[in-house]
Amino acid sequence: MNRFTDIADKVADGTRLSSDDALFLLQYPDLPAIGRLADSVRQRWHAGNEVTYIVDRNINYTNVCVTLCKFCAFYRRPGHEEGYDLPLATIYDKIRETKELGGVQILLQGGHHPDYDVERYEQLFQGIKANAPIHIHGLSPSEILHCCKVSKLPLSEVLKRMRAAGLDSIPGGGGEILVDRVRKAISPLKTMSDEWLGVMEEAHKQGLRTTATMMFGHVETLEERVEHMRRVREVQDRTAGFTAFISWTFQAPHTEMETTPMVGGFDYLRTAAVSRLFIDNIENFQASFVTQGIDLAGLSLRYGMNDLGSVMIEENVVSAANCECLAQISELEKQIRAAGFTPARRNMFYDRVDETGAPLRRHHDLAWSQKHGAGDVRPPELEAAFAGAGVG
Ligand code: SF4
Repeated sequence: MNRFTDIADKVADGTRLSSDDALFLLQYPDLPAIGRLADSVRQRWHAGNEVTYIVDRNINYTNVCVTLCKFCAFYRRPGHEEGYDLPLATIYDKIRETKELGGVQILLQGGHHPDYDVERYEQLFQGIKANAPIHIHGLSPSEILHCCKVSKLPLSEVLKRMRAAGLDSIPGGGGEILVDRVRKAISPLKTMSDEWLGVMEEAHKQGLRTTATMMFGHVETLEERVEHMRRVREVQDRTAGFTAFISWTFQAPHTEMETTPMVGGFDYLRTAAVSRLFIDNIENFQASFVTQGIDLAGLSLRYGMNDLGSVMIEENVVSAANCECLAQISELEKQIRAAGFTPARRNMFYDRVDETGAPLRRHHDLAWSQKHGAGDVRPPELEAAFAGAGVG
């Protein structure tokens, strides 16, 4: 039996793939065959014909950052004339606009600002919940650890306080590649692998759901891509806390790594499909239309992806690197239909929502419930909307 057939048999009978299997697939020339395998796994997880997306808004509350990652075109050093720190009133206005457009959450991320301690974040989250309540999907693990340093407080306490103040879930930003050799090369001042994963594990322990990401196509080897996936899979085995895995390719323009050759569509599709096959314990895999363009993201729906990510009303971090791919909802739904699926809007918990953001159907995450003895704890405003809509 040849190696690919052997792996295909493992996938068919649900046997976990080894790191060597994943590495083999990342080098296997028959890309459509890998796609078909990943598609079969997507179908197993998502028996219906729906492909989801979310309408939300990326609010970058500050671009001031002391961490100076080489791959980042967004940050400004403290004192730089282009540095900004959004006033609370501006943030509330942005959220109100988001809700008027049917948006269901904000993705709140920013630089590692030297003045942002836990009180500052508490003020921010409490202010949002009081003035413009919405699901706050916010702060990457590295922002949270930076806040711990500024506040001189342990992670568990900072997370507890942030959650009490209104933080609802944590995005997987700053995952890049979870191998310290790579992190030291591209972002030496940022959290290392164990720290990043440690924040996620603690968040899951405290009942917060998070996503996991991978930014690839820079200095990492294929082995290191697999190692990244392995470490995410390992945490998920313990906690079941990741709702989704999202991979995208490094965007070089306007960064210190501008001369790095960028990864093309074949490599993107192959890596996305292998992530679906190898990480067998995460339910949702998101395509990246911001970095790959809408056509390739549409194609990736047949390479294991079941979600087209976010229709972002505002995007600063990636657009600063010349990504002008912000698709409108109609375009995105067109792509989903063209790939043979039915579009469905969702929130962070993968509940289905209508075009106003009102909930239609609750999603039950069995693995999470089994580990944590209860379903997801949704924000009060979402529970109230469920109750108001009379849906369970
Ligand atoms: S990626 Fe984040 S932490 Fe790194 S320089 Fe940019 S804003 Fe700062």
